[in-house]
Amino acid sequence: MLYSVLVDAYESLERTTKRLEMTDILVGLFRKVPTDLVDKVVYLTQGKLYPDFVGIELGMAEKLVMRSIAEAAGVQIKVVEDELKRMGDIGKAAENILSKPKAVSLLAFMGGEHKPEPLTVNKVYDTLERIARASGEGAQETKITLLSALLKDSTPREARYILRTVTGKLRLGIADMTILDALAISFCGGKEARPLIERAYNLSSDLGFVAKTAAMEGLEGIKKFKITVGKPIRPMLAERLPTPEEVLSKLGGKCIAEYKYDGERIQAHKQGDRVLLFSRRLENITHHYPDACELLRNYIKAEEVIVECECVAIDPDTGELRPFQELMHRRRKYGIEDAMKMFPVSLFMFDILYVDGIDLTLKPYPERREHLLKVVQEADRIRIAEFRLIESPEELEKFFEEAVADGCEGVVCKSLSPNSIYQAGARGWLWIKLKRSYQAKMRDTVDLVPIGAFYGRGKRAGTYGALLLAAYDPDTDTFKTVSKCGSGFSDEELARLPELLKPYIIPHQHPRVDSRAKPDVWFVPALVAEILGDEITLSPMATAAMGVVREGAGLSIRFPRFIRWRPDKGPEDATTVNELLEMYRSQLKKIEAEEQKP
Ligand code: ATP
Repeated sequence: MLYSVLVDAYESLERTTKRLEMTDILVGLFRKVPTDLVDKVVYLTQGKLYPDFVGIELGMAEKLVMRSIAEAAGVQIKVVEDELKRMGDIGKAAENILSKPKAVSLLAFMGGEHKPEPLTVNKVYDTLERIARASGEGAQETKITLLSALLKDSTPREARYILRTVTGKLRLGIADMTILDALAISFCGGKEARPLIERAYNLSSDLGFVAKTAAMEGLEGIKKFKITVGKPIRPMLAERLPTPEEVLSKLGGKCIAEYKYDGERIQAHKQGDRVLLFSRRLENITHHYPDACELLRNYIKAEEVIVECECVAIDPDTGELRPFQELMHRRRKYGIEDAMKMFPVSLFMFDILYVDGIDLTLKPYPERREHLLKVVQEADRIRIAEFRLIESPEELEKFFEEAVADGCEGVVCKSLSPNSIYQAGARGWLWIKLKRSYQAKMRDTVDLVPIGAFYGRGKRAGTYGALLLAAYDPDTDTFKTVSKCGSGFSDEELARLPELLKPYIIPHQHPRVDSRAKPDVWFVPALVAEILGDEITLSPMATAAMGVVREGAGLSIRFPRFIRWRPDKGPEDATTVNELLEMYRSQLKKIEAEEQKP
C-alpha cells in the first residue's frame, strides 16, 4: 500500500473537526488497507509506532531532523532553520524546501539521477521504527542517515507528514473512540458492534491489535477477544461523593470499604517468573520497582495473573506509610539499587482481573476478592489492602478516620452487588471514593510530649521506631494523645532516644495520660518535642479533643515529623488541646475560603 494513500486521508482529516466526518474518512481509509497492515496504519494515524505501553517513542530531536532535511535537499542547515522560523512547523518547512527545484546536477544530466520508487506504508513504518530504536554510540548519525534517505524518496507532501510523525507532532486530533467507531463500521457490520470493540480495546489498550483482530476475524474475532498477559487492561476508576451517607445510599446500604493508599497504582502482570508493571496511565514502569517485582514473583501464587495494587513508600523501620512524593525518587533510569534501599515500598493488593486462563473482569467484586485472597500470600511488604465490611454511615466514618490517621487519603467504597464487574476503562459508581476534602498544610509546628514509645525493627532494632505524642489539656490536667511519630529523627538522635527517655520509663500508663493506643513502653510526661505535620486530621485513636468535632474521633496530625527537642519547655507548656482545636478550625476555614475562590 502506498504511503500517499495515507497522506490523502491525513489531508482530509485535517480539513475537519467533526467527529462523524472523521469517522467516514477513516472508514474510507480502512477499506483500502490490506488486512495485515491495518495495525500499522492505525498506529501511524495516531502518530505512533506501537501502543503507548510498549514505551518506544518517536520524537527525534529537532536539531537532528533539520540536519536530515538539509542533507536530503542539498542545502545549508541555515536555510532549514530560517524556513522553520518562518513556518513554525517542521513539516511545512520541509515541504517548502523540498519543493524547490534542485540545481541540475552533472549526475542528472548524465541520466544517473536517483529515481525514487513510490513510498509504501511498510517502508515508512520500517524506517521510522529503525530510527526510534537506534541507540548507543553513533545513533544520531544513524538516525540522520535513515531520515534523509527516506526524505529523498518522498514527495514534498509526504515529507510534510513524515516529519510531523518523526518529531512526535502529527496530531490529527482523532480520538480513540473515533477509531473504534470506524473499526466497527469497516469490519464488524456497523456501529452496533462498538461496545464489543470498545471492550476489546479496554482489555488490551492496543488499538492496532484490536484493529487487526477486527480486520482479520471480523465480529466473531472481537466477540472472542481475550485478555493477553503483558497487555495492560485500562483501569477502572472511582466516582466521588462527599459524605458517608451518600456513599452508602448509592451502594445500596452495604459495601466493602478499603483504605485509599497514597501511592502509585500498579497493574501487575505475572507469567511464570516474568513480571511487568504498568502505571495508572499504562506506562511500563517495571524498571522503577525491581523490589515490587520480586515480591510479586514470590508471593503471588498463580502461574499467570493480573492483579492491581497500590505501591506505597514506607519507613522500613516503623512500617509507617510515607507520602506519595517519596515515590518520585524511584522514577529514575540509573541508580535504582540505591533508590530502592533509601525509599522502600510496600504493596497493598486490591483487585484481580485474570488468573490462570480465567478472565475475572466480568465477575462481581466479591468473587474477585475470593480469588485475590487465595492468590496473595501475605508477607511483610505485600498485603491485601486494609478493608472493612460496612453497613452504616457511622462505621464508614470511623473507618475513614482510621484510614486518614494511618496516612491514607481516605477510602474507596466498593459495590458488592451481583453486577459489580471490573469496569475496565470507565469511571463508574461501582467504586466511590471518600477523600479528605482539604489539603491545607500545617503552617505552625506544635509542641508535644512523648508519653510512650514503640520498639523499632530492622535498622531501628535496639531503639524506638516511633514515639507516642500527646498534647496538654489544662482543664483536666492530663495529656491526651495526638499521633505516633517516627520520622524526622537524625541517626544520632535515634540512637540517643533510649538513653534520653530511660529516666522516664514507667511500667504502666501514667495516671495523667489519656490514651487509646497501647505502646510498648510508657513514659512519665516530661520532655517536649517540636513537631511539624502536613495537616490536622480526625482519628479514632487520638484522645485529644475526643468527640468535640465528631463523635468517636480526636485530633491527630498527618505525617508528623520531629523537628527538635525543646528543653526550654516543661510538659505543661506543650501545645494544648484547645490550641489544636483552633488550628483545626482555622484550617477548615482556609479550605472553605479556597473552595469558594472562582
Ligand atoms: P485520585 O487522584 O483520587 O487518586 P484517580 O483519578 O487517580 O483519583 P480514582 O479511580 O478516581 O483514580 O480513585 C481511585 C485511585 O485510588 C486508584 O486509581 C488507585 O490509584 C488509588 N487507590 C488506592 N487504594 C485503592 C484501593 N484500595 N482500591 C482502589 N483504588 C485505590
